[in-house]
Amino acid sequence: LSAKELATNTLDNIKKTDDKFNSFISLNENAPKEAEAITEFDTPLAGIPIAVKDNIVTTEMKTTAASRMLENFVSVYDATVVSKLKDQKAVIIGKPNLDEFAMGSSTETSYFGVSKNPWDQTKVPGGSSGGSATAVASGQVVAALGSDTGGSIRQPSAFTGIFGIKPTYGRVSRWGLIAFSSSLDQIGVMTKRVKDAAYVLNAISGHDERDSTSSMREVPDFTKALNKDVKGLKIAVPKEYFEIGVSDEVKRVVNEAIKVYEENGAIVEEVSLPHTKYVIPTYYLIASSEASSNLQRFDGIRYGFRANDVKSLADVYVKTRSEGFGDEVKRRIMLGTFSLSAGTYDAYFKKAAQLRTLIKQDFDRLFEKYDLVMGPTAPTTAFGIDAKNDDPMTMYANDILTISANMAGIPAASIPAGLASDNMPVGLQIMAQRFDEEAIFNAASFYE
Ligand code: GLN
Repeated sequence: LSAKELATNTLDNIKKTDDKFNSFISLNENAPKEAEAITEFDTPLAGIPIAVKDNIVTTEMKTTAASRMLENFVSVYDATVVSKLKDQKAVIIGKPNLDEFAMGSSTETSYFGVSKNPWDQTKVPGGSSGGSATAVASGQVVAALGSDTGGSIRQPSAFTGIFGIKPTYGRVSRWGLIAFSSSLDQIGVMTKRVKDAAYVLNAISGHDERDSTSSMREVPDFTKALNKDVKGLKIAVPKEYFEIGVSDEVKRVVNEAIKVYEENGAIVEEVSLPHTKYVIPTYYLIASSEASSNLQRFDGIRYGFRANDVKSLADVYVKTRSEGFGDEVKRRIMLGTFSLSAGTYDAYFKKAAQLRTLIKQDFDRLFEKYDLVMGPTAPTTAFGIDAKNDDPMTMYANDILTISANMAGIPAASIPAGLASDNMPVGLQIMAQRFDEEAIFNAASFYE
């Protein structure tokens, strides 16, 4: 099979199946031609079609962030991760669906409609990287990039039974990722096989002078970390991750998975993350505050959509933003603007920032003694389309187990742990100390 044939077959298959799944917003019709130029397979990714979440900018396709605001936006540059994939001769095959500006947990806030869970198309694939998850889980692609601000790689990976890793904050350049909450956002990888994710993460990691928060640290070869021993590994299991709203079936499947580590010589201990009860309000204040600032640039002048029938400059801003953003995005901009206002800053944003430090310290304390933290990725298996869509608080509550890793900046992954009694996949979440993705790759490949 040539790279060109692979690209052609991949595109054909996506076109045949995407009516069912709605994984993609755009496809790269030029992919076979680009692939034709790949004749030497001297990198692990040479000729491999990869999907890139549609909030990561690419020059050859639109980048919409699943928003009407950017419905027809084409970037003049490639994100650093995209250039790096191309340097490794990967073929960018298309741009998967997401929640609008990555705000959501189901892809239901997408301007382009919900993606469908391949396991049961009446259910959501999770979000915000739900299109990436659907594309991988359904076999349309072997690998996709996602972004994770509060769980957007891990929760959809759990819901669709695939592997997804959010690396350490700073491991991967955010240059060219449309900013949601800059202190929490991180690009990561979603695949079926753990080893494939290691190859892709190898390719996209490393310092980038265009992202001042990207780390100078050397990037290890993550494939070398696979399939080592779990004997003697110290695993912390926070009791709070088996409380608030976690279903019995999720508990059962996750406990069984953790037992496999124990049976193979790992030391498993129950611990406490005492600030877990504060993570939802803390996260939603911080993320929305940063979003309200980041999204100011969508003003009808600089990018994308502009409303018609405007009579003044103020009209341009107000009408463009009223018509260009969906309800969830507006809700966050309002909450964020409120929390940052002079009269409320001390009571909201500042308090949230202080709590974030306490949440981070909970983890620092654990990693003095343990190699890994394990628990469920999400409180339930995938929920039905429309089940939570008109109830933001219930939707937000679903993020309780993933948000902390972003606030602490630590790497975290979801691996398929098994099936619940509803025949839907359950994710085991594995978290490690900052810059210790290797520990995650080892533990994940062991269970696989
Ligand atoms: N579901 C969370 C939210 O809506 C996380 C989103 C994300 O990680 N991008 O904010």
